[in-house]
Amino acid sequence: MVTGEVASLNPFLIAQRQLDEAAGVLKLDRGLHELLRWPLREFHVRIPVRMDNGSVRVFEGFRVQYNNARGPCKGGIRFAADETVDTVRALAAWMTWKTAVVDLPLGGGKGGIVCNPKELSPGELERLSRGYIRALAPAIGADRDVPAPDVGTNPQIMAWMLDEYETIVGHAAPGVITGKPIPLGGSAGRTGATGLGVVIAIREALAALGMDPASTTASIQGFGNVAQYAAIHYREVLGGRVLAVSCWDHKDRRAYTYTKKGGIDPRFLQTITDTFGTVDRAKAEQAGYEALAGDAWLGLDVDVLIPAAMENVITADTVGRISGRVKILAEAANGPTTPEADQVLQKKGIYVIPDFLCNAGGVTVSYFEQVQNAYNFHWDVAEINRRLDEKMTKAFHAVHDAAKEHKVPNRVGAYLVAVERVAEAVKLRGWA
Ligand code: GLU
Repeated sequence: MVTGEVASLNPFLIAQRQLDEAAGVLKLDRGLHELLRWPLREFHVRIPVRMDNGSVRVFEGFRVQYNNARGPCKGGIRFAADETVDTVRALAAWMTWKTAVVDLPLGGGKGGIVCNPKELSPGELERLSRGYIRALAPAIGADRDVPAPDVGTNPQIMAWMLDEYETIVGHAAPGVITGKPIPLGGSAGRTGATGLGVVIAIREALAALGMDPASTTASIQGFGNVAQYAAIHYREVLGGRVLAVSCWDHKDRRAYTYTKKGGIDPRFLQTITDTFGTVDRAKAEQAGYEALAGDAWLGLDVDVLIPAAMENVITADTVGRISGRVKILAEAANGPTTPEADQVLQKKGIYVIPDFLCNAGGVTVSYFEQVQNAYNFHWDVAEINRRLDEKMTKAFHAVHDAAKEHKVPNRVGAYLVAVERVAEAVKLRGWA
């Protein structure tokens, strides 16, 4: 039996609840609504891995292909110790709405392996990554389902996965996976794309609220790939100041919030951060940074809050700590806000840029990566960023306008835009 509290934090139940609200506004018919509430297919695999000490450990993995009405399934793979099939289902649902809201010819999927990548040697990580692809090779492909990086995975892991897939099928197939290193067919601009997309969405929200970006401040949770580039672009594209970033310290097994008078320098912090997003505390303190409690980022007096780490951080318990100064919540993470907290944000009048809109920059450039692979051609970073800006800006305004027109919160507005597009494709195919 799950208690009410635990059930209310189950990401998949949250994703279904969010869809239900939009289905009500759209008056979706029952069969169609039911079809969109569940993944179309999912794979549960066991992956045996020879560990460095000679023993065999069996890992559990998932790939959820949520919906492919608009095109091949698309979405990252997470390596996380607390991964569950329901988390992967929720993330796969959000990928379906994400690719639709930015109008890509793709569906939604997600993968995960229950493991702690920080405890695995590079050799063990490689064997695990290759084992996952051996288990799933028949189910993926550029025209079936296209994985990418997410929490706990990176371009090197994508390289091993690509190599394993190409070895199995016996020919080059770069479009099977995105977020690859550039020499293997990765795209210019992919690494910073999610963070840049977040900042483009914030730029549009600030304009809608009549605020001058250069005089704004932000506080960020996380210092992994998304947070690092959100911080960099917040300074360099908007000219605003980032007052804090918070990150998990895997040596101390706790989080810290790093602040500095006048704002942090993300490019400097990047030089003292490991591949798992942990800032070296001693070096940061030496450079004049103060290490506050891990959750301090949420209560700072800033204009923009950017959760860029994990799900369920803004909850009924924590939402009250948000300062009265905050005008925008930019959800760079997937699923950072619970429905209970959403209601409070609405009452406070905070402008929410919902996750699957806010962080769609990553998958958008993943799509550009696939297009370049198909043409066996490269665009430069200026071309990528120009196309990304176009997609993000258009999606932002579609959501903003839908929310205004229907007098609903932005999250519901985003669902209205995305679900309507997926529903149309489902109906055209005659599925419902
Ligand atoms: N993992 C990223 C996301 O959640 C990117 C997915 C992709 O590029 O396919 O959007």
